[in-house]
Amino acid sequence: MTKITEHIRRAAGKTIFSLEVIPPIKGDNLKNLLDNIEPLMEFKPPFIDVTYHREEYIERPEPDGTIKKIVTRKRPGTVGICSAIMHRFGVDPVPHVLCGGFTKGETEDFLIDLQYLGIDNVLVLRGDPAKPYKDFKPKENGHSYASELVAQVCDMNRGIYLHEGETALSPTDFCIGVAAYPEKHFEAIDSETDMRYLKQKIDNGAEYIVTQMFFDNAKYFAFVDQCRAAGITVPIIPGLKPLSTRRQLDVLPSIFYLHMPEDLVGAVKACENDQQARQVGIEWCVQQCRELMAKGAPVLHFYTMGKSDNITKIAREVF
Ligand code: FAD
Repeated sequence: MTKITEHIRRAAGKTIFSLEVIPPIKGDNLKNLLDNIEPLMEFKPPFIDVTYHREEYIERPEPDGTIKKIVTRKRPGTVGICSAIMHRFGVDPVPHVLCGGFTKGETEDFLIDLQYLGIDNVLVLRGDPAKPYKDFKPKENGHSYASELVAQVCDMNRGIYLHEGETALSPTDFCIGVAAYPEKHFEAIDSETDMRYLKQKIDNGAEYIVTQMFFDNAKYFAFVDQCRAAGITVPIIPGLKPLSTRRQLDVLPSIFYLHMPEDLVGAVKACENDQQARQVGIEWCVQQCRELMAKGAPVLHFYTMGKSDNITKIAREVF
């Protein structure tokens, strides 16, 4: 399989189409997900990201008045979906690999599984806190920050595993991507601090960046400038999500800490139903894509959230 950085190099300045999918809710059919990816093959994505969803805790009141804590995983199957994508579409899958919920040893095992499957690309993330908790807590003997996990993957790329010291073991060969936030990660005290930690991920060995979604291209362009000024030279892939319901005007900023431009807010507020809002979201995203392509974005990376009809319409307009 081919590394993301190599896909970008081979495109020689032409913007690539790519997407992110999320595993179905446990018990749902994988067919729906694959059927949603199928129409997007028209735009020849060289890679598809698959998100990872850690365990969640549910507190259930028992008849005796006590509270029982249940651990559940709502969207398992990241690795299986990666394998299905490889076999059905012949496309490079990019599994997301998290600090949260993993010890270093479990991470090592996970990465070995990926290597055996022939998966050479990973997007390395800290992950969100385990729901319903608000603070991120690493597992005992796990990583606290994505930069530490990047270092572990790089060690394995040099043949250094956890317990075997620096003897010459078979090295892995992962191309590592990391996340970044044009509008700052919500926990960071300021964008300079956030940038310092992003640089640490690159210095530790990450080879490209994928951004959080944004609706105002100016935020992305300013962020790219800030990265370059900080000495970050790797490709910075913009993440895009077309707005698809009126409710998302409030929901997306509260979940992802992003700014909705006034013009978009006005256009969506004028909609009488979600169908009209979806159309506004498509048109807005088409404009974003055209500007990003004109200014040389290496990839347009779409967050599909399991639905592809609006992405298809956008890609037909711009690719
Ligand atoms: P980090 O880079 O570790 O940063 C987290 C915070 O800690 C930041 O505020 C940073 O400034 C700060 N920080 C970093 N290093 C240090 C340090 N050494 N000391 C002190 N502070 C530090 N979540 C999932 O659960 N599953 C997914 O599949 C998933 N996919 C995503 C894909 C993309 C493209 C993006 C943008 C996000 C994704 N997320 C996913 C969400 C992500 O896990 C959260 O945003 C998480 O809160 C931060 O992850 P990170 O890798 O950016 O963390």
